[in-house]
This record gives sequence, C-alpha cells and structure tokens, in this order.
Amino acid sequence: MSFPANYKYVIIGAGIHGLSTAYHLAKELKQKKVGSGKDILVIDKAAIGAGASGIACGIIRNNYFQPAMRELMAHSVALWEEDAKGYGYHPIGYMQISCESMHADVAEIHKQQQEIGYDSLFIEGEKECLKYMRENIFHDWQAKNITSVLHELKGGYAHNTKSLYRLADKAESEGVRILTGVKVTGLKTDNNSVTAVETQKGNIKCDYVIIGAGPWAKSFWNMLDLPDQIDIKDNDGNIHKNVDMWTYWGLVEGTLGVSPDYAMNNAGNMPPVIHIDTDAPLYSSEDGSLITDKMWGIYYKPDFHFGGVQGGAAPYIVKGEVRVDPYGIDSPDFVVGPDFVHMWTSALAHCQKRYENKYQNYKNEPSGGLGAFTPDNFPVFDTMKDNCYMILDSNHGYKMIGIGKLIAKEITGEKQSLLKPFRFERYAKGELHPVSNSPFPWS
Ligand SMILES: Cc1cc2nc3c(=O)[nH]c(=O)nc-3n(C[C@H](O)[C@H](O)[C@H](O)COP(=O)(O)OP(=O)(O)OC[C@H]3O[C@@H](n4cnc5c(N)ncnc54)[C@H](O)[C@@H]3O)c2cc1C
Repeated sequence: MSFPANYKYVIIGAGIHGLSTAYHLAKELKQKKVGSGKDILVIDKAAIGAGASGIACGIIRNNYFQPAMRELMAHSVALWEEDAKGYGYHPIGYMQISCESMHADVAEIHKQQQEIGYDSLFIEGEKECLKYMRENIFHDWQAKNITSVLHELKGGYAHNTKSLYRLADKAESEGVRILTGVKVTGLKTDNNSVTAVETQKGNIKCDYVIIGAGPWAKSFWNMLDLPDQIDIKDNDGNIHKNVDMWTYWGLVEGTLGVSPDYAMNNAGNMPPVIHIDTDAPLYSSEDGSLITDKMWGIYYKPDFHFGGVQGGAAPYIVKGEVRVDPYGIDSPDFVVGPDFVHMWTSALAHCQKRYENKYQNYKNEPSGGLGAFTPDNFPVFDTMKDNCYMILDSNHGYKMIGIGKLIAKEITGEKQSLLKPFRFERYAKGELHPVSNSPFPWS
C-alpha cells in the first residue's frame, strides 16, 4: 500500500487512547451512516504499544476522590467487562487500604460509589480492618496503622499488550488503517484548523486530527503553538500566574520474582489489586534500618504476564530538561534504581509476612517510565483547534479504555457530559477537581 496523501481522520498514537478512539469512531461513523473505518488512519512513530500503554502495569480501579473521575472510570470498567477475555482483563477487584489521614476521603469515595451503583465494601476501624484482611484476603496480612479498607468488587487489572492488540484488531476489522514507523514532525495549520499532518515520509492532508500521544503530549502542544505556561484560577478564586502546563513524573514499578501462585489469597485464588497508603514507619526488610517515618504507599498484584508480584510506589517529579526518548525500559534516565527496590520490597514485607526475606528475589530488569502531567494532574480532553482533539490523560489513562468511545461520539456531534469536567477552560474558570490527601498524584 502506498503512503497516504490524505485521510478524513488522522489519529496520532497507537496507544490505548488512539486505538480505542479509532475503533469506536469507526463504529460511530458506520452507525450514523456518515462514513466508516476506511476514513480513519492511525499513525505511530514506533509501534502499537510503544508508549506508556505498553508498559503500564494495567491496574483498573474506580478509587478516585474526584466525582468526575469516578464516573469516567465506571464507564470504562463497563467497557473492560464487555470483552474481558479479549482484552486480557482480570476482574479481581481493587483495595484501597489507608491510614487515618485518608479515612474521611475514602469514606466519601465509598459513599459516592454507592450512589452511582459501583459495587464496593467499606471497612472501618483498626481491628475490623485487620480481621477483614486476614479472614478474607491474606492470613499473613500485618500492615500497621490501617483504619479503613475500601474493597472495590469491580476493576482489577488487564494485560497491557493483549488489550492493545485486541483494540487494533477490532479497529482494523472495521477498515481502519494502522501505519507504524511514521513519525509526525509538525502540524500544518490554517486559521484555527489543522490542514495536514507532516511526517518524515510526507504530508497527510486531513479533515480532522486526534492526538493521543501520552508522554509526548508536550511536543504536540508545542507544534500547535499552545502556551508553555498558563494562569489558573483555584476554587477560592485566587489566580496563579504562569504555571507550567507540563510536568513530568517518573513512575517507579518493578517485579518480585516469585511465582504468582505464591501471592494468591486464602482461597488460593487471585487476590484483588492491593494499594496501601500508611503513616506507619517503614523499616528495611534487609537490615532493619528506618526507611521512612513519613507517609508512604505501594501497590501490587500477582501477574503472570510480568512473571511475579508486580507493582510500584509513589512517583517523583522530574526536574530540569527531560528526554522522553528513548522511552520506557530503553530510557537511560527513567528506570528504577536500588532505592525503589529497597523501599518497595520492604513495604511488601511490611504488608505480608510471606515477603519477609524475599527482597533478594527482586527481578533486576529495567522497569518504570515517564508520565506527562497537566497543571492539576488531571486529564484534559478537548478540541485545541477547530478540528483537533487532544487526549491529554495526565498519565491516568490505561484504565480509561472508554475515553475513545466518548470522544468518538463528540467528534460525530454528540457532546458527552462525562467529558465536560475535563475541558481546558477549567483552569481559567476556576472549576478544578477536588484534591485528596493521598500521596499519589493520581488519586
Ligand atoms: C510505568 C507506568 C505504569 C502505569 N500504570 C498504569 C496503570 O496501572 N493503570 C493505568 O490506568 N495507567 C497506568 N499508567 C498510565 C498509562 O499508561 C497512560 O496514561 C496511558 O497509557 C497513555 O495512553 P496514550 O494512548 O495516551 O499514550 P501512549 O500509550 O504513550 O501512546 C502514545 C503513542 O504515540 C506515539 N507517538 C509519540 N510521538 C509521536 C510522533 N511524533 N509521531 C507519531 N507517533 C508518536 C508513541 O510511539 C506511542 O506509541 C502507567 C504509566 C506508566 C509510565
């Protein structure tokens, strides 16, 4: 097939958002009898899953302090459930296990989950939490200072590449063309519209462009001459001037090389994904030294794809010049080091007796990656030119498989109330999302 000179819809990025949008847009066009998948081209400079979607540990949860995020997640979980087998989705549930400083926030999350019909249980009190964990999940649970447990009965995790290839297959079966190895170098604009996508192999004229570039969001932001810094009105009406539009965080994740079977629950089955945040002092499982007496958090799950117990800890802000490429495990800068390994394996031992003395099983292979975050750390889903939709998920997004479906509806003329709280104008209007007491920027 020759290199295309024009396409009605060009989608940049073959990650979870680009592929989900491609598939759902193809279906919308067909259903509305205004086109088909043959009108859609997906391009990626590398390959399907070459970005954050291909290294995401795949956790899918509803646990968000922000009502708008929760509604969006409930929508996405329903999509994961539609084709669980095809996407490699494991609906094992998710647990937010917290110390007292997060108790009230999580109680509110649970209350609102009940209101939107999202199944979850809430356990309160130190003794009750310990009992619940030991009797229902892990007999060797021993984490300290835990006063609430939110047990989401839906959600879990999915196998990252399986879900991406499933989406790609679905899109292609609707007639979408996916072209990899094509790097976008610029966007030609006229007035407030993108007229062509410039690539190393030639220009592609288009009527509409959708950008789902994950950690590369900033380079597309620059191609569209959008501002590096913006003014933000907070919820009290104060104006914060010249706030950086983009901040990079380093995500720290890794795998303990034990058999996933070693991590099963009391009944011998896959346990829910565990996320714990606590202010209990964390001591080294190697030498007993104090690692931190400040709030810390980790998440983990047995994962046959990663070959062990896979998880991570709170990310860190990357200062100074950031090289996004080479990305992921090929990056010389953004893979985890010994500090993460020490902390995370010790935290596992803090949570469950079975991980005491297991730190030496840590798999020493490159892991972790970079995420591009917006000023309030929440997504922006919006048209930044008349015919250019930007999916700026602020690194929340593998779990958000349903965003592409909502965006496909918007592009074909149906505004989506679920997306309204995620417009760029919220920064100027002072309509920010509420902020939780979690140590993670994505809760
Ligand atoms: C280590 C790590 C763990 C994570 N774990 C989770 C998790 O458990 N759950 C969760 O929900 N989220 C998780 N996330 C976040 C999630 O992975 C991202 O939010 C999401 O995958 C972003 O998807 P995307 O489609 O926007 O971008 P990506 O998947 O990054 O895809 C963007 C694509 O754009 C292409 N591209 C970039 N520039 C160009 C160009 N110039 N021309 C052409 N193509 C280009 C890239 O090659 C890439 O394939 C994690 C992120 C990281 C880094």
